[in-house]
Amino acid sequence: MGLMSELNLKPGVIYGEDVRKVFQYAKDKGFAIPAINVTSSSTVVAALEAARDSKSPIILQTSQGGAAYFAGKGIANSAEKQEASVAGAIAAAHYVRSVAPVYGIPVILHTDHCAKKLLPWLDGMLDEDERFFKEHGTPLFSSHMIDLSEEEVKYNIDTTAKYLKRAAPMKQWLEMEIGITGGEEDGVNNEDVDNNSLYTQPEDIWSVVEALQAISPYFSIAAGFGNVHGVYKPGNVKLHPELLGKHQEYAVKKLGSKDNKPVFFVFHGGSGSSVQEFRTAISFGVVKVNLDTDLQWAYLCGIRDYVTKNIDYLKTQVGNPEGADKPNKKKYDPRVWVREGEKTMKARVVQALDDFNAANVL
Ligand SMILES: [Zn+2]
Repeated sequence: MGLMSELNLKPGVIYGEDVRKVFQYAKDKGFAIPAINVTSSSTVVAALEAARDSKSPIILQTSQGGAAYFAGKGIANSAEKQEASVAGAIAAAHYVRSVAPVYGIPVILHTDHCAKKLLPWLDGMLDEDERFFKEHGTPLFSSHMIDLSEEEVKYNIDTTAKYLKRAAPMKQWLEMEIGITGGEEDGVNNEDVDNNSLYTQPEDIWSVVEALQAISPYFSIAAGFGNVHGVYKPGNVKLHPELLGKHQEYAVKKLGSKDNKPVFFVFHGGSGSSVQEFRTAISFGVVKVNLDTDLQWAYLCGIRDYVTKNIDYLKTQVGNPEGADKPNKKKYDPRVWVREGEKTMKARVVQALDDFNAANVL
């Protein structure tokens, strides 16, 4: 028994009703799936390896900046077309789709925060999803995220609804954000925001559910409960994951739902939070936790330690403490030192899978 046999899933990228079933399974069993920000094939394999070894599903996502990096820093993004981010996200998607099945696990292929000014990026990806859907019967991506939390609530909900209408015929999942996540990420700076607005109210969550459920069941909500993007000094932020329980209660009452956690929640700004905070949030219906900052740090650590330890072998191509004519090729081959970053990143993802109760669920 386990997720794959119970839901009859094949390994590789999953779509549509399978995505909903996996999130429902996670909600029922009390685990969340980490969403790993990937920027290269190297970070993709670190995440896939961790999930394979932990017997877990995984979510791989590219941010607008990460997608552009995937395409190459030498390509410029225009404001109207976001061509580097569109091309990079599509390239990452094809790469993940190709390698995911050999890791033997279900993978949700997602894209991260898309603020108002970045909507041409989302439009470009949806064009490709629709083209791909015509040919193969599935969209290219399992899901996308739209983040209009900076805008007026009405605009946020109406525009999110418009995008969900576009995604619905493909049974594509859409994640939205309401309320404000503090800190700075992807060029949006909320460091000075007043503390009360960091917490979303149950009525706001209900307005989202009411508007979106009329269109499609395939959506999730990132609600602010004091979360902050990035890592700051401890004590600066007070997380209130129990607020998610209040949102669920309110939605149950409005919906008359039998499920006591009808809403799929997403935890943003997870880096630096305690295991207890994660688990409390998960118990209230969080099915996805974004992890980025801690993984950037983990990836660096392996490479930093390798370079520090081997510095006398990395100054010249030939010549090291063992002799002036000794070659250093085996030390400077990128497959050796980049791999060290993959190992430390992988270890951090394994830890996250444990923290979120997602290990050994397949
Ligand atoms: Zn967010």
